[in-house]
Amino acid sequence: MSDTIFAKIVRREIPADIVYEDDDVLAFQDLNPQAPVHVLFIPKRAIATLDDATPADAALLGKLLLAAAAYARNEGHAKDGYRTVVNCNEYGGQTVFHLHVHLLAGRQMHWPPG
Ligand code: IMP
Repeated sequence: MSDTIFAKIVRREIPADIVYEDDDVLAFQDLNPQAPVHVLFIPKRAIATLDDATPADAALLGKLLLAAAAYARNEGHAKDGYRTVVNCNEYGGQTVFHLHVHLLAGRQMHWPPG
């Protein structure tokens, strides 16, 4: 598997504004936020894209979403609402090939997304 900037963040080789961590999940502020709240939730064990996930990754994927939901709830964003996004490959707009869940909150979201 190719190394990515997110793997370097997991290994603390480059800095990140980390907001949550457990044995399997790391969450940090997006460098280029698209909303007042924009946090990325990544598995410490790299999976390149959602298309590369297998049934063996089911619990890990669940942990990512639950970590994002808990963060949103704890930070007071659950009542107004928020959006979670997983971009996959070129048409999905994925630019970093280490699976991640975007958590966006703090403003009205629109549909369809661009
Ligand atoms: P993607 O387009 O779904 O792959 O999202 C990648 C996200 O990573 C983008 O929102 C970028 O702004 C963000 N990003 C890229 N490099 C860094 C970094 O070093 N720290 C934090 N976020 C980053």
